[in-house]
Amino acid sequence: MSSKKVKLAWDELVMSEKERQAMTEYLAFLSEGKTERKSWQLLERWAQKADFVALDGVKGFKPGQKVRLAVRGKAGIIAISGTRPLNEGFRLIAAHLDAPRLDIKQRPLYEEEGLAFLKTHYYGGIKKYQWTALPLALHGVVILRDGHKVEIVVGEADEDPVFTITDLLPHLAKDQYDKKLPEAITGEGLNLLLGHDPCNEDGEERVKLAILHFLKDKYGIEEDDFVSAELEVVPAGRARYAGLDRSFIVGYGQDDRVCSFAAWKAIEEIEQPEWTTIVLFADKEEIGSDSNTGMKARYLENFIAELISMQNGTYDGLMVRRALSRGKALSADVAAGYDPNYAEVMDKRNSAFLGRGVVISKYTGSRGKSGSSDANPEFIAEVRRIFDEAKVSWQTAELGKVDQGGGGTIAQYMAIYGMEVLDCGVGILSMHAPWEISSVADLIMMMRGYRAFLADKD
Ligand code: MN
Ligand code: MN
Repeated sequence: MSSKKVKLAWDELVMSEKERQAMTEYLAFLSEGKTERKSWQLLERWAQKADFVALDGVKGFKPGQKVRLAVRGKAGIIAISGTRPLNEGFRLIAAHLDAPRLDIKQRPLYEEEGLAFLKTHYYGGIKKYQWTALPLALHGVVILRDGHKVEIVVGEADEDPVFTITDLLPHLAKDQYDKKLPEAITGEGLNLLLGHDPCNEDGEERVKLAILHFLKDKYGIEEDDFVSAELEVVPAGRARYAGLDRSFIVGYGQDDRVCSFAAWKAIEEIEQPEWTTIVLFADKEEIGSDSNTGMKARYLENFIAELISMQNGTYDGLMVRRALSRGKALSADVAAGYDPNYAEVMDKRNSAFLGRGVVISKYTGSRGKSGSSDANPEFIAEVRRIFDEAKVSWQTAELGKVDQGGGGTIAQYMAIYGMEVLDCGVGILSMHAPWEISSVADLIMMMRGYRAFLADKD
């Protein structure tokens, strides 16, 4: 850059009334969509309102037809039929809805010295010490033996109690201080404090008994029902603006609900695209994209097969393969925002700076790009052109210094079909912490960039 003033996304940013409103919606999305199930529920509700019809209720896939597919209530796909036939290709943005958290174990409840706890097993890459001594909420479902689903949310309403995981007082932390950071708080030490009122129960474990009675009365669940439950411990409280100038958003789960939200906003605006336009919300990205709701499960392929069958009147495997291999996709996930407090782990010339717009990453991975989907420069050039034409501020970045660590996301599971894929998201500070920070300017630029990509005609 030749001028001394660095060009920022803020300089180009004149927010429309719609975009201002989108920020309010984003705060609500983060506050209410604390789990993959909850965030998919919100997205599905919005999609339904915007005339995306459930796949099994769709008769044909004519241009302009809007379709949605739920994947086990935790992931999903929405699409709008383009004017071109699907076998010529499509535009896809794929983000993920799951976020690092603490899951409740299947045999979680115990009492010790008059205190009841739930045992947890952490999900995704967390720094364990960050999860002690802060207010936590419990979200999830318990499926009873007869299939009945009990939904549980405790810790979000003002009148709700919250939970916490205790930490050791500094006065007695001499040995703890000597440990390495990852060992100072252990995985088995992350036990959720649940209660200590024995409520006039009798016997040895009176508090545990009292908790079980409470669970039976309030939710109709018994101790064995934890076996068929998915309960998630997440930070309690709402997302909100941060900074004196309200230029940041602080909220749980912005990796990757910030990209999920932007992708939804992008497709919401589109009426009749040239290319069939698809937005996918995956689950299980944070633990390697396995399970039948993760990106390695073939729901995208099956979805395309369904659409091709509707468009052609019959299933044609070759057409499905052609559609998949001619597709163009943005793998929508967050980047590591440059943090001056930890400058030593970043290559300043190849970092994602907050306030400099949407981020593209040619590759992720670790060490010698291992585990990365290395995007083709031909495709990167196309995305550059689209962003420039739409006046979207953008930057390019790697995760951090070479050999400092690394990570990967879902791009590779799209690349296997032969489609063009590029990683594209925004920089986040305190990524994977209970409260993550994003930039308002970057989010707006991401929404604009995603929309321009989906609406592109070339
Ligand atoms: Mn992510
Ligand atoms: Mn992540």
